[in-house]
Amino acid sequence: MKAYFSHIYQAVSSILIGMGITGRHMFQKPVTIQYPEQRLQLPERERNRLFVDMEDCIGCDQCAKACPVNCIELKTIKAVPGDIVGKTGLTSQGKKKALFVPTFTIDFAKCCYCQLCVFPCPTECIFMTDVFEFSDFKRAGLKYEFSDMTAEQTAEKKMKAEEYALEQAKKKEEAAKAAASSKSSSAAEKKAAEAKKSEAPPPEDLTQTEDNKNKEV
Ligand code: SF4
Ligand code: SF4
Repeated sequence: MKAYFSHIYQAVSSILIGMGITGRHMFQKPVTIQYPEQRLQLPERERNRLFVDMEDCIGCDQCAKACPVNCIELKTIKAVPGDIVGKTGLTSQGKKKALFVPTFTIDFAKCCYCQLCVFPCPTECIFMTDVFEFSDFKRAGLKYEFSDMTAEQTAEKKMKAEEYALEQAKKKEEAAKAAASSKSSSAAEKKAAEAKKSEAPPPEDLTQTEDNKNKEV
């Protein structure tokens, strides 16, 4: 009998406690956000899609080396003397740019948003943005290219760099040849001088000749 009433008490009290909680929430402000019509302000350090400001990128490859999943692909071409990389040849901090960057791809299908690529960048040109809505129907659509160099520009810069490298190698070869020939001619001169020296009479003979000369006088 005692157990019977105890069960009734427990059932009624638990219903009352639950209804009490429901009743309290009925008078609170709703917390549901009607996304996408309503959007919350994201925290400052939120990690979302990366962006690369190519005007400041010097092609140093530090970001790609730091990436744990190899989702950054970078290709560079050396600028020849007289070539201006980008609009001014300088970054916004005044650093000289010596490399063209025809390819700077980030595969966001692989990216784990760890932000490790951001910290080593010497010009702070790769950073996280607040863009988080960039899903795609195809995996390939998540590969983002940040370089704006055209295929023609890339081919031209590549050819220039190759020609310059060939020219430099030729110059180096000629300089080495010239150095080798000057070395061999100086060795020949040294040899000739030594041979001449060995043909000359010994110093005693010279003394004798001087004595004879004196006697004759
Ligand atoms: S956030 Fe991490 S995974 Fe994504 S590109 Fe940068 S280093 Fe690679
Ligand atoms: S670390 Fe910065 S400057 Fe260097 S290649 Fe990456 S984005 Fe460009």
